[in-house]
Amino acid sequence: MEIQENISLAPFNSFGIDVKARFYTKIHTVEELTEVCRAKKKWPLFILGGGSNMLLTKDIDAHVIHLRNKGISVVQDTDSYSIVEVAGGENWHELVLWSIENNLSGIENLALIPGSVGAAPIQNIGAYGVELKDSFVSCKVFDLSSNQEKVFSKEACEFAYRSSIFKTSAKGQYMIWSIQLKLFKPPHTLKTQYGDLSKTIEALYPNTPNFGLSELAHAVIHIRSLKLPDPKKLGNSGSFFKNPILDKKSFEAFILAWPEAPFYELGGDQYKVPAGWLIEKTGLKGRREGAVGVHSKQALVLVNYGGGSGQEVISLAKKVMDKVFKKFHITLEPEVNIIPEQQL
Ligand SMILES: Cc1cc2nc3c(=O)[nH]c(=O)nc-3n(C[C@H](O)[C@H](O)[C@H](O)COP(=O)(O)OP(=O)(O)OC[C@H]3O[C@@H](n4cnc5c(N)ncnc54)[C@H](O)[C@@H]3O)c2cc1C
Repeated sequence: MEIQENISLAPFNSFGIDVKARFYTKIHTVEELTEVCRAKKKWPLFILGGGSNMLLTKDIDAHVIHLRNKGISVVQDTDSYSIVEVAGGENWHELVLWSIENNLSGIENLALIPGSVGAAPIQNIGAYGVELKDSFVSCKVFDLSSNQEKVFSKEACEFAYRSSIFKTSAKGQYMIWSIQLKLFKPPHTLKTQYGDLSKTIEALYPNTPNFGLSELAHAVIHIRSLKLPDPKKLGNSGSFFKNPILDKKSFEAFILAWPEAPFYELGGDQYKVPAGWLIEKTGLKGRREGAVGVHSKQALVLVNYGGGSGQEVISLAKKVMDKVFKKFHITLEPEVNIIPEQQL
């Protein structure tokens, strides 16, 4: 195990922000994690996965531990489903491809979401009508202060829209070492109706009797590749803000003023409004401010054209929030983890 000092984290975060880590170590085994936890007294630990959901705003005065453990195994197999255990250091999209190759359904709509498997529960990743929680069984974690192993059931994870206990009350306390998912064998129930997915499927696969997991994932990949900038070419963290959820009273006032606004009815008198649409209406879509900007194809994504700092992104995010509030009286909340934590 090599402990490096003062290394740049630019290659390890999808925004491409160049800050330094005081210490940096790749973790492949429980023994390595134990060793790092023992040495922790001096330096706080900070967990890095794929770096695709964080905005680094200054040098990290901590020991950055980069989870790199590997392994996918079937731990229970029945006629209708398999329970699969996956190491936190695996790549999420690779896992989706593995599930399709093995004809197991449940996570195909989550294709091409960047990042690690271990980070997937943190914000209960979701896309195209599916969330991690829909197939999640449990996760094995290590308490970073005691190094004790613990298992969190689905209920204990307190999953919600882009949230879990690991992003709220237990933030930074546990390393998610592995997760278990319940994935289904054929005949599969496919979710094809969300947003522009059904239209894309119609266009890409007209009259396809054998339409299945692979085609569905391909349609998702197709839409995502058209809409979202590739972080390898243009620094970003995907959706910078959550889609605001309005109660009935606020929603009725909103839709009266903006009858053309798109929305999703969530049930329980709650309505989700696309933050991208709100931002677009403020005229900020495509706005560039120095090295950072609001993406020209998807206003929900803030981008780093190269050499931008975390603070520049913060200033732009504040401007976006301010304009949205002035126009709609709706407060946007960041989805991205701002490191170190700060209130916008
Ligand atoms: C182009 C693009 C598109 C995206 N699209 C989507 C989308 O459709 N839906 C969606 O939900 N998200 C999306 N995201 C966000 C991101 O991909 C997910 O949130 C992903 O799960 C982050 O994984 P990561 O390994 O990169 O996490 P990181 O950015 O490395 O970490 C995120 C947070 O989790 C903590 N963390 C990381 N790993 C662990 C661990 N093993 N144990 C405990 N804590 C940990 C970190 O300390 C940090 O606070 C997108 C991002 C990009 C760049």
